[in-house]
Amino acid sequence: MKTLAIRCSRARYYSPEVMQVKLVRAAFDTVYWDNTEEVTTLFYLTKNLVQGRRAADELLLDWDDVEWVEASESTQGGGAVRYSWSKNNKEQRDKPKGLLCVTGCKGEMKKGADGKWVAPSVLCPVHIGRHAKLLQSLDAGVSVEELKAPVFSKVAWIGKVPSGATLVVDENERDAVLQQAGRLVLVITRKQEVEGLLYDGSMPFLLNGRKFRPPPRGVWFVVPRKGYAVFAWASAAGVTHRMRKLMRKANARGEEEVVPLKTIESSRAARCGSRWRRYSHARVFQWMRLWRTASGKMSLCAARTYVRLTR
Ligand SMILES: [Zn+2]
Repeated sequence: MKTLAIRCSRARYYSPEVMQVKLVRAAFDTVYWDNTEEVTTLFYLTKNLVQGRRAADELLLDWDDVEWVEASESTQGGGAVRYSWSKNNKEQRDKPKGLLCVTGCKGEMKKGADGKWVAPSVLCPVHIGRHAKLLQSLDAGVSVEELKAPVFSKVAWIGKVPSGATLVVDENERDAVLQQAGRLVLVITRKQEVEGLLYDGSMPFLLNGRKFRPPPRGVWFVVPRKGYAVFAWASAAGVTHRMRKLMRKANARGEEEVVPLKTIESSRAARCGSRWRRYSHARVFQWMRLWRTASGKMSLCAARTYVRLTR
């Protein structure tokens, strides 16, 4: 069996370095606090130091699943995270998992006199998470309370969805979205999305008789009547890429190389540390579902992810 495993390349060839606290610390020390992607990636890393979860759990997490608890005289502030899917918990009976604000944390991040975010003095996963949500809601152009999106996602006001993106919208909002979206964004209906239509660079955009082929930027979903769209990271590859990027930046911005290149490049390093284990061999098929809740409000959720092991 062992030989077979090696022959079929299922064996572990090496044990990558584990994501360590000091590496996360390096990212924390150098992160740009106004950069949504960096702060969200940092949230992923810090949260995982406390709550190691499987990739599928993290990628399905909506902001609605995260409840913030304010500190009171007798209790420490923090957050409760409700994981909706787990390999060991398919019936969704998991209790919410707590995430505590750390001692010495000054709470919500504030802007200084120069208008820039003041870097927090202590590494607090709760307040890094809250800051990530705030930045996402600013990108979406809605209030923090109004933001409906997967936690690990990119959010943009419709006019800011990048060229090369495929933008999925409800039939009844299609015309309005067409007006606002960029000219090199493929706007399609949900029905068309189900049929498999998307911009992948194989067919050019035609604009004033000229052909344009921007690099494909993935499938974004318009949140009904809110004027913004979301793009879920949704795959192990997507998260690894963002982690590597953040670690490289930490090195470039720091005075010395704090994260060994070997660690950055090792494809599983970060994820092994955060219990991703063999997810690099998994394909994550994900689609987002937008649906109308019973109360008539539109709600959005990264509702289903199909994880199919490729072998
Ligand atoms: Zn805190």
